[in-house]
Amino acid sequence: MPARTDHHAATSADSRRTRPGVTFASFQALGMDAGLEAARWAEELGFNSFWTAETTGAEAFATLAAAGAAATRLGLGTGVLALQLRTPLLAVQGAATLQALHPDREISLGVGVSSPVVVDRWHGATYGDAPLAQARDWMAVARALIGGDKVRHESTHYSLGPTRLGVRLDHRRPRLVLGALNTQMLRLAGATADGVLLNYLPASAVPWCIQQVRTGEQTAGRPPGSVRISAYVHVGVCDPEVARPKGRRDLFGYAVVPAYARAFTRAGFGEEIAAFTAAMDVGDRDTAITAMSDAMVDAIDICGDAATVSDAVEAYHQAGVDEAIIMPLPWGEDRMATIRATMEATAPLRVSTDGNIRRERLSIAESGFRTQGHQMIEWVADYWQRTDDLPVGPSVEPGWVRDQLDPHPPQLGGDLAGALADLDRVIVPALTHWQAPGFFGYFPANASPPAVLAELVSAGLGVQGMLWATSPAVTELEQHMLDWLVEACGLPEVFRHRRADGSTGEGGGVLQDSASSGTLCAILAARHRLGIGTSDGPSVDDCVVYGTAETHSSLEKDARVAGIPGSRVRAVPTDPDLAMDPSALKTMLADDQAAGLVPLLVCATAGTTSTGAFDPVEAIAEVTEPLGIWLHVDAAWAGSAAIDPEYRWVIAGVERADSYLFNPHKWLMVNFDCSAFWVRDRAALTEALSIVPEYLRTARSDAGEVVDFRDWQVPLGRRFRSLKLFFVLRHYGLEGLREHIRAGVADATWLEEQIDRHSNLELVAPRSLALVCLAHVAGDEATQHLLDAIDSDPRYLCTRTLVDGRLAVRVAIGSPRTTRATVEGFWRFIDTSASQ
Ligand code: PLP
Repeated sequence: MPARTDHHAATSADSRRTRPGVTFASFQALGMDAGLEAARWAEELGFNSFWTAETTGAEAFATLAAAGAAATRLGLGTGVLALQLRTPLLAVQGAATLQALHPDREISLGVGVSSPVVVDRWHGATYGDAPLAQARDWMAVARALIGGDKVRHESTHYSLGPTRLGVRLDHRRPRLVLGALNTQMLRLAGATADGVLLNYLPASAVPWCIQQVRTGEQTAGRPPGSVRISAYVHVGVCDPEVARPKGRRDLFGYAVVPAYARAFTRAGFGEEIAAFTAAMDVGDRDTAITAMSDAMVDAIDICGDAATVSDAVEAYHQAGVDEAIIMPLPWGEDRMATIRATMEATAPLRVSTDGNIRRERLSIAESGFRTQGHQMIEWVADYWQRTDDLPVGPSVEPGWVRDQLDPHPPQLGGDLAGALADLDRVIVPALTHWQAPGFFGYFPANASPPAVLAELVSAGLGVQGMLWATSPAVTELEQHMLDWLVEACGLPEVFRHRRADGSTGEGGGVLQDSASSGTLCAILAARHRLGIGTSDGPSVDDCVVYGTAETHSSLEKDARVAGIPGSRVRAVPTDPDLAMDPSALKTMLADDQAAGLVPLLVCATAGTTSTGAFDPVEAIAEVTEPLGIWLHVDAAWAGSAAIDPEYRWVIAGVERADSYLFNPHKWLMVNFDCSAFWVRDRAALTEALSIVPEYLRTARSDAGEVVDFRDWQVPLGRRFRSLKLFFVLRHYGLEGLREHIRAGVADATWLEEQIDRHSNLELVAPRSLALVCLAHVAGDEATQHLLDAIDSDPRYLCTRTLVDGRLAVRVAIGSPRTTRATVEGFWRFIDTSASQ
């Protein structure tokens, strides 16, 4: 049995992208107040984290403790500590203390090997001659300590133990981040760290670094993407001409460190480093500084207007950085104003509350809609594929989703990217994957590419089809699609809006949100036809509606909504096949009439929810017609099968019904919602529901020239649902849809055959199309075990039912992603479980 997938495992580069952080590293010289102010700004602007560096200035953990108190939601990170200056335990103690102070925040313990200047000269510690080996040992010890283990470690650099971290931590632990420049250190990060921190690199150098990290992951047997790629992105909203000399000096300060000089050369600045080295060799410091070319400065310390700066950050993301940590370059006249402007330009949240809307009005492209839209299509397409491996049912505890989300709504916008990232982080792990191949629960709820595209177009058009006049295409396409379905499913001509000869029919079809709404409309139309509630008509209290114990619960709910008490919803006895018994219906109707009650509507089901039983519509019509009782046929699930002439028997007798419905959103490749509902006499429906205030009047409606669908449903407003049918029918054609139905029925038939041959399992009701209900021959307890086994397997989801008081497993096949191989796999699993 496959293990349940780790919900938190990264799935794509985009889903790993986190909100940017900010580092205090570049403006520490402005003092602690500046740092704390920036931390508060960072929180206000939606940054994810606050980082600090450490050489001879502010001490890292004290700074982060103060920043953590000033900004109550930011993650905190050291970026980076020289690992030679603290023992692994001391550093882990610092990070763990922060974590204990802020149990729900992300704490990152970033370390690196620094340089001989910092370690030897400034601190009087030992840089040593094996920084890589020391880093490896350091990471191993720190990792073990963070994990809470009792650590005993013997290596060249650290001999300790047994020892254990003495800070108590809850569920969350600090992340280990390694600052890395060269091949070996990047690979070490890949092999041992939770994150890598890149620094002083142009975006163009990022892919090479990532390659080394991934190699390290692979060598250590870790899944690709285990290590988050963070990078300090040096940017400043300031005049580049003014900033460049400062940038030159800044880069010079790093070029003197051999490891950085090599990294600059690797990043394409070999000429600059050669000129720098030549000048330094002869002690010409000024020339060495000027060796840092404009191109080099502009690629690493990027200054310009807000758009230049925000594009620069995007370039790092495009190069593969998961987390940009903004290093604001305070190189404007007013240094704090420059820092603020830089943070605003790179902020995940927009500063001005009307910024987004104004931007979108000016330019849709700028709003990110096009790029994010393309990404979302890719995301959905990937999601469909991922359903092959995702656990079909969610395993989250109640409240988990809400715990992942900010308890407060955002004050400022601009965080659509964050919302998209939350799809993978929060939403997908807490879904039941109805499109998964092993989804056999309830009834299927097909989604398909053409339907989803139509949904997108419908949302983009943003039209409202309450009246013909509010968008003629919405009304007329819907009429046309409902007429197409009449032909496609072999429904009676009387249901058509436009007869074959071009004349207007008396009936017609409409799309509702759900079968429940269609049935409600049928009851309301029936009520109107009998003049229920009018001054000289019968009282609604005396009305009775009829189904069976197998009828969907929506009948009773709809009756209640229509004012009919629940006690007036009758369950007509059924025959051994769980179908309504027409003679029992006849007796019941006669008894009710004799008691002065008013039989209003009989709901016959073509394909009941529990077992897929079929009420005999024709025989029921024989009973209802002479009495003038409304006959409604609910084929919510099975109605899709009528698209194939082979299964047209599912709608036998429907030509005698007053109304009929089925849900293309179940089994006909149209995503929820799309329920098709027809009436033989539309006047009964529209008269029941039409109210025309002055503000909804139009000349064409007054003249009776057009259909206004607001009169065919309970709400006024309505979506452009028929586009989905239009796209789906054009994309698959009737033949394609028939194939889909046939495949589901064939898979269920195969399953039925296996069950028939099995000694421990049996069908508790005849297979109905693609629905199979089975039980263990040993009784309910054994069936319950089988249900439990299915429940605990991530690949499958089934629902349960009672058939004649007997517990049964319902297997409803019909997801477009289900194949015969899926059903065979399911059978092997059932077979084994039932044989144990
Ligand atoms: N009728 C039948 C026979 C059903 O099986 C169902 C749902 O499965 C419904 C009605 C209710 O469907 P909806 O969710 O569209 O209201």
